[in-house]
Amino acid sequence: MFHRTQTRSVKVGNLLIGGNDQVLIQSMTMTKTADVKATVEQIHRLEEAGCELVRVTVNSPEAADAIKDIKRQIHIPLVADIHFDYRLALKAIENGIDKVRINPGNIGKRERVEAVVKACKERGVPIRIGVNAGSLERHILEKYGYPTADGMLESALHHIRILEELDFHDIIVSMKASDVPLAIAAYKKAAEAFDYPLHLGITESGTLFSGTVKSAAGLGTLLSMGLGNTIRISLSADPVEEIKVARELLKTFGVISNAVTLVSCPTCGRIDIDLISIANEIEEYVANIKAPIKVSVLGCAVNGPGEAKEADIGIAGARGEGLLFRYGEVVRKIPEQDLVSELKKEIDALAEKYYKT
Ligand code: SF4
Repeated sequence: MFHRTQTRSVKVGNLLIGGNDQVLIQSMTMTKTADVKATVEQIHRLEEAGCELVRVTVNSPEAADAIKDIKRQIHIPLVADIHFDYRLALKAIENGIDKVRINPGNIGKRERVEAVVKACKERGVPIRIGVNAGSLERHILEKYGYPTADGMLESALHHIRILEELDFHDIIVSMKASDVPLAIAAYKKAAEAFDYPLHLGITESGTLFSGTVKSAAGLGTLLSMGLGNTIRISLSADPVEEIKVARELLKTFGVISNAVTLVSCPTCGRIDIDLISIANEIEEYVANIKAPIKVSVLGCAVNGPGEAKEADIGIAGARGEGLLFRYGEVVRKIPEQDLVSELKKEIDALAEKYYKT
């Protein structure tokens, strides 16, 4: 698949964003950032699920102060989400933040922007410009009448120009909208207009169910165009769910190298086992396994092995038992009650092999 690798490369903590074919997964905590214990706990759950960088809101001096303690206890880069208040940005940078999301055009006086940029330069902290269709600048809204992709691009270029004038180029840009076609059009225009890495997101996309569908439609389209260097699925749900959806989406486009892909059949009248429960249990089990294994769970042996020839390991149901197969070849029969436990062991063995190589 084509991937837009010709972007600038921006360092965020120990990660390189852009300039490669990686799409890194990001999420945002929903705890009060000043509550260090709760925030760290949530970040640990996100890390375990596969989150690669995490954003926290910095909306008070207490939140900015907490960054130091949070940073000490987590293992992935930390991003500060700041609106308007340049003093909070300075404090966050001083406390070791890895990236700041702030729109320079909204900071106010020139000296304030200069102070933030100077601090970012000194500490090697990049800035994400977050364009949002719902909060475009008044002059842009007046010009276009309502949020449009051209208006969003104009907003992005306005903020980029401010940073470039200060010779600052460690920039990442997002072009979020909750309207999917609008977000797609805006990201496309952005990719044509500049080479800064893009953080993808469909904002306010909805609940776990509707937000997943909406994000998959929008972000899937962008990924299929080869766009995106980081990604966030925004859901009204536990942020761990955002990571699960992001990983699944990246798997679909083959742009993640450490995730298990599960293939399961839709079931039909030929089914001989309780496939839906088995598929759900295996899906849950493999969610945190960081190895590129393909697992197949099929309802019957008629089409089973053939339908999953490319799977590394899989089962196909038969009456009261199941067939275990590898790479499309049946290797042994397993009683139905042991199917899940035996498949888990096989997956673990494959993952172990992968970790050792
Ligand atoms: Fe039906 Fe068997 Fe295909 Fe599943 S694998 S959909 S049970 S034919």
